Amino acid sequence: MNLHEYQGKEILASFGVRIQRGVVAHSAKEAVTAAKQLTAETGTGWHVIKAQVHAGGRGKGGGVKLAKNLQEVEDLAGQIIGMNLVTPQTSAEGKKVHQVLVAEDVYYPGDSETSEFYMSVLLNRATGRNMIMYSTEGGMDIEEVAEKTPHLIFTEEIDPATGLLPFQARRVAFNLGLSGGAFKEMVKFVSSLYKAYQESDASLFEINPVLKTSDDKIMAVDAKVSIDNNALYRRKQYAEMRDLREESPIEVEAGALGLNYVDLDGNVGCMVNGAGLAMATMDLIKMAGGEPANFLDVGGTADAKRVEEAFRIILKDPNVKAILINIFGGIVRCDRVAQGVVDAYKNMGDEINVPIIVRLQGTNAELAKEIIDNSGLEVHSAVQFQEAADKVKEVLG
Ligand code: GDP
Ligand code: MN
Repeated sequence: MNLHEYQGKEILASFGVRIQRGVVAHSAKEAVTAAKQLTAETGTGWHVIKAQVHAGGRGKGGGVKLAKNLQEVEDLAGQIIGMNLVTPQTSAEGKKVHQVLVAEDVYYPGDSETSEFYMSVLLNRATGRNMIMYSTEGGMDIEEVAEKTPHLIFTEEIDPATGLLPFQARRVAFNLGLSGGAFKEMVKFVSSLYKAYQESDASLFEINPVLKTSDDKIMAVDAKVSIDNNALYRRKQYAEMRDLREESPIEVEAGALGLNYVDLDGNVGCMVNGAGLAMATMDLIKMAGGEPANFLDVGGTADAKRVEEAFRIILKDPNVKAILINIFGGIVRCDRVAQGVVDAYKNMGDEINVPIIVRLQGTNAELAKEIIDNSGLEVHSAVQFQEAADKVKEVLG
């Protein structure tokens, strides 16, 4: 589950990580109130207005603007709230901005003593260990740094038995070229950041940039945070931070029905039981010259009601030109599933306007094929994997 910058910063602050402070606003008026409050608390005269959407690269897309007085706060917040923000990380339509973070300006103009670093904490899947990845090249696209100047990216792997050791935090500060007060601040920053990552069950904390101010403070100016979905049951305070407006509406609806659905760009809808079979089915579709429109695992109970729900979800995607149902009948018998498909099809009538290919294998597969073939419906049945692929090819023309 991804969080907004302001939520990520809230978590950081609760673990003692220094952050660029800010207040969320949902309208231009609220932004002015927020700016006044920040001035009272921090003494800042200038403010940064930052669009809160689940996408990086907001600065490049015009979603981060500096306001030098309250009038500019009002104008810029008014412009940014409601806009469709297009960044290198969004689709071409962009993301609708519902709220902004009014933050204190922490950059001092013409100040050559400040530096921007990159720092993230994440799991290294190759070694199975958490790691801190960091670079002197902050504020930039880290993928670009990795490509052009990979020697400027450092990593620190953490042994789960010992946790982050003090010498490791010192090594981070050293590699970033810090000394004196800034060195000490960075050691504290790294330790608290790692603690925040671990104790919130996060899968990612990415801070880009980490700012070193001219008076040697180290602070998080941005925060991209993902919390592990599987841990949300025990992290209720973070689960509450979920913003459904930022997620695909079809995925949210499918999730509420208990279907594992992921929206994709292709034209063949898939309805499958089991994640492994779903992956194999997506390969099958590609081999037949199609592109999967979704990943959908209906789970263990493929009865008529469930099949109907899955049909409705798949058909919400206007790109779907055909649906491939690929079910393995183990505990659930194939004839039951076949009956479910036929019943759902009859119930839905005209709502289903694309060809359907059903491949059922396992217990009572032949009986299932009979049920489908005798139903009089426009459903193509197949028992073998290859047959199903050929039928997909056929209906796609
Ligand atoms: P992103 O573009 O989505 O990664 O958003 P960031 O929060 O990283 O902000 C983008 C850029 O805005 C940063 O790299 C900074 O250069 C700039 N920025 C952020 N905060 C301030 C600030 O307080 N003052 C000024 N002048 N620039 C800022
Ligand atoms: Mn950033």
